[in-house]
Parts: sequence; C-alpha cells; structure tokens
Amino acid sequence: MVVREAVDVMQANSGSVALIEPHTQILEIQTSIGLSPVVRRLKLPIGRGVTGWVAKTGQPLRVPDTRADPRYISVRKDVRSELAVPLIVEGELIGVLNVDSTRCNAFSDDDEALLVALANHAAQVIHNSWLYAAVALNAHRLEALFAVARDIISSHDLEEILQRVVCHACELMETKICSLMLLNTACDRLELRACHGASADYLHKPPLSVDDSLIGNVVRRGKPVQVHNVQQHDAYQHIELARREGLVSLLSVPMMHSNTPIGALSVYTGKSYRFSNQDIAILSALADLAAIAIKNARLHRRVVDVEEQLRRNERLSTLGLLAAEVAHEIRNPLTVMKMLFHSLDLRFDDADPRARDTEVMAEKMDHLNRIVDRLLSFSRSSEATFERLNLNTLLEDVLLLTRHKLTQHKITLQTKFADRLPKVRADRAQIEQAYLNLILNAVDAMPDGGTLTVSTVAEASSVLLTLADTGVGMTKEQRARLFEPFLTTKTGGTGLGLAIVQRIITEVHRGKLEVDSAPHRGTVFRIYLPV
Ligand code: ADP
Ligand code: MG
Repeated sequence: MVVREAVDVMQANSGSVALIEPHTQILEIQTSIGLSPVVRRLKLPIGRGVTGWVAKTGQPLRVPDTRADPRYISVRKDVRSELAVPLIVEGELIGVLNVDSTRCNAFSDDDEALLVALANHAAQVIHNSWLYAAVALNAHRLEALFAVARDIISSHDLEEILQRVVCHACELMETKICSLMLLNTACDRLELRACHGASADYLHKPPLSVDDSLIGNVVRRGKPVQVHNVQQHDAYQHIELARREGLVSLLSVPMMHSNTPIGALSVYTGKSYRFSNQDIAILSALADLAAIAIKNARLHRRVVDVEEQLRRNERLSTLGLLAAEVAHEIRNPLTVMKMLFHSLDLRFDDADPRARDTEVMAEKMDHLNRIVDRLLSFSRSSEATFERLNLNTLLEDVLLLTRHKLTQHKITLQTKFADRLPKVRADRAQIEQAYLNLILNAVDAMPDGGTLTVSTVAEASSVLLTLADTGVGMTKEQRARLFEPFLTTKTGGTGLGLAIVQRIITEVHRGKLEVDSAPHRGTVFRIYLPV
C-alpha cells in the first residue's frame, strides 16, 4: 500500500521500499512496483547507490538527472530522476522509500516534503506490524513451551527426558543443532549427554573443563552467552568440529535448579544469526524446565533403588528368621545327643584311635551348640519393640515406597482410610515388613495389572486392615497350605513371606489373619490388630 500510494501520488513510474536486514546491515528490497525481478533481488550495502546514501545519512535525496549523479547505480536504463527518503522509527533508520521517473526533474520540493510525510507514517506502520508479528511469535512460542513442558515432565526416564529436551529446543528455536551438557561435579567437567541434529561424530565430543571453556563459563557464571560465529571465536574449543558440522551462531544458557547450575543447553544455527532477548528468554525457560525434570528423574531413580533394596531386605530378614527357627529346632535334639553321649562315658586306651574320635565328637557337639547359641542370641537382639502407632500413617509410608512398583505394573491403587483410627501397640518395622510382603504378593498376582484396594476400619476392640487384589487368586488347596513355609508358586520365590506375616500378626501382635480367595477372582487379606 505504501509503495502504491507513493508511486500514484508522485506520478512516478516505479517505486520500492528497501529495509535494512538487522543481522547483515544490508538493504534489501522488501516490496516494489514497476521493477524487474532482477532489480528486486538487488542488495545494497549501506552507503552504496542513492538508496544507500539515504540510509547512511538519514537525509532525503532528490536526483533530478540520474546521468549527472555519480551516486546513481543504473538498474533501469530509462530512469531519469529519483526521489528517496529515509524510513525512521524512534530515531532509528529502518529503510528507504524511493520513487523513480523516466522524466528528468520529475519531483519538486513539494513532492519531497509530501513523500517525507508519507514515509514517516509508513515507518510507524511497518514498525507496528513488526511488533505485532513479534508478539504473535512470542505467543506461539509460549504455547509451544507449555506443550513441551507437559511432554518433558511426563517422563521419569532420564535419557528420554534429555533427548526430548534437545529435540524440542531445536524445533522451538528453529536451530540446526541443540546440545545438552551436564555438570559432573566429581571432576568439574561438562559432559555431552544429548544432542539433536548433529552427526554421530559430534556425539563423541570430549568433556569440557568448567574452568576454561566457553560453555563452562556459562555454567560457572550462571549467565547466557552468545557467539556470533563460533568458527572465528578464540575461546570456542572445537572450531574444527564446528566447521565440519557447519555451525555458525551459538546461544548457550545455563540449566539452573534452585540457583545452582547443573549444566548448559546450547543451540547452534547454520547461518549467521543474532539471538534476540526473546530467544534467550525462551531457551532459558526451557533449560530451567529441563533442570527440574532432570532432578525429578534422579529422585525417581533413587526411589526405585530404595524399593529394590526393600525387596532384598525382605529376603534377608526372612532368611534371618528362618535361621533362628532352624537354630531353635536344632537346639533340643542337640542337647539330648550331648547328654546321652556323656552318659555313655566312653573311655579308650590312649593307643586306641577311638580315644581321639570320641574327643572329636565331643568337640564338634560343643561347636554346634555355640553356633546355635550365637544364632539365637542374634535373633533375640532383633526382638520386637512396641510403640503406639497410627496405622494409617504407617500404611501411607509403605504405599509411598511401593507406589512406583504399582504404576510400573499398571496397578491402580485405591485407599479407604478410616477417619479416626485408634492407635495400636505394634512394632513398626515388623508391621511394615508384613504389609510389604502382602503388597508384593498382590503385585505378583496381577501380572497384567489390576486394582489394589487398601483400607482401614476401626472396630470395637481392634483395627481392621484389608488388602484386596484383582489378581489370579488361589485354589482351595493352595489356600489351605498358604502359611506353610517354602510353599511357593514362583520361580524366584522363597515361600517364606506369608509364614512370616502369620508369625508377625498372630504370635508377635496377638492379632488375627484371614484370607478370602478363589481362582481368577482375586484375593482379600484381612488383618485384625487389637487396640
Ligand atoms: P513367595 O511370595 O515367595 O512365593 P509367600 O509365602 O509370600 O511366598 O506366598 C506363598 C504363595 O502364596 C505364593 O507363591 C502364591 O502362590 C500364593 N499367594 C500369596 N499371595 C497371593 C495373592 N495375593 N494372590 C494369589 N496368590 C497368592
Ligand atoms: Mg511373598
């Protein structure tokens, strides 16, 4: 509209608007009327030609006869006069508006004044449309950032998160490559952990020292850095690699978590580019988001480890209890043997080899006795310690530990906790162990997922804990022998879990344990603990 209006009003033959490309500082024709395609593609450095002169000086220029003005670059043979005026917004020159005529002296003083006025309006309109485009772009990017955030935090797997971050960063920033480096605090080095858009070669980029590298500087100071051309930057460490990959401009931002940098996120363009403040803000937001997701994934990993530990502990304490039982069972027959052996009062000549044999037998029986004693005193030292417990809180703790295992096996957890539960006198560790046993059994019973319902009910003189699964269930025969030690249907099972649960509930806590189960109908365990 601006060019059309200018050409009409000035009764010119052609006209154009050329804008200064901010990254290259070169005048490029944005729109034109009456110019050939070749001319339209013409690019002028500031200072060259009539347009270039106007851009350089910020003054209007009227050329009454192009043949007499050395500044004029002939692009159309028949152009005889030209009028060019600057486009200025808030004191900054953004481009040039010009009109040409095939007549000499086509433009007057009044024409010049009018075109200057038109240019002033036009500059403001162009500026507004840029602002509008920038706001629209920003809105679009923020929206994209939200989607990215949702995507990143939906995963708990560290490698997957890292890969998603670099992938999204490339898309969001419209860059060639994105790399993510994490700080290894043990050796103060930055290690490349994920990369998008680069060749396999790049993935073998060696770790960077935090103290003397460009990206190390970003991490150390916790501030973004941009480099216009990494191929010509002294502090950039892998210039050769950058040349091979065709990397030009770099923007690197720190990944901050609670004010501590944990790494850096860097994007590279394939063409020379100046990153705007908006670019920096968006990449920084993404980097901080990534930092949170990474921290979460690490925490999550620890929970999983703790859970594995739990399972191992279950085995160990089960075996410990077993050892104590065995010791107890051996002690009585051993005492009888010892008594009878001594009452035999076997005496042989010193020369008789049987003299030595009887000695050895007595020694070995004493030895066995000592082992049994030690085992028993060891298991006594782990005897129950009772305290007044709120079983709701205790269950919540156990469920917190197994939460991940349940989701992993596609098991939905339902809890129905009684509002006011009387406290019971119980041994925390043992009740926890018993419950863990039951939950892990339920998980094993639901290989294709299901629902686990855990509830607490306050009864007249006891607290009732129920644990119901929707798993494979048991036959009548299985149920009858359920609490016998070593009875298991699993390849890795010990068959001791329920034997111990039974001991903990009925013997140690004087409670009651009931089971309801049928094949394919799930299983319900009910535990009553006296108040
Ligand atoms: P383990 O878990 O090592 O097999 P347990 O004593 O804990 O030993 O369980 C014994 C057996 O009882 C299991 O192998 C399984 O066959 C059966 N069982 C226990 N809990 C359940 C349940 N919730 N659903 C179905 N079967 C179960
Ligand atoms: Mg078990």
